[in-house]
Amino acid sequence: MRARYSAYVLNETAFLKASWHADTCPTEVTPNGDLRWCGLIITAHEHASERGRVHFQATYQDAGGFALLDEDARFVFEAGHWLYLDGTPSVSRLRPGRNDACPCGSKRKFKKCCAR
Ligand SMILES: [Zn+2]
Repeated sequence: MRARYSAYVLNETAFLKASWHADTCPTEVTPNGDLRWCGLIITAHEHASERGRVHFQATYQDAGGFALLDEDARFVFEAGHWLYLDGTPSVSRLRPGRNDACPCGSKRKFKKCCAR
């Protein structure tokens, strides 16, 4: 999961396709160049034999501001590798207050960081 997040950060589409299950992998994996990933938090994970689930929250910034991608992702273990099968993503826009921690991950207050 963390490797796939890193691949999104670095626009490594070859790795994204290679770690995607053949049954669900789209023909084209196109990275969104206007989007900047800010952080990943794994909130829960479990696996039993060849099935795994990872619940994660990834923050990103785009032209519309900051957003949170919350996804419950399913993985399968095949031929020695965990492969992304599918997930149920939901995206919500973040509206940080001036004194909140900046969603960009700087650990500074929003008003002293990206709000300026
Ligand atoms: Zn910031």
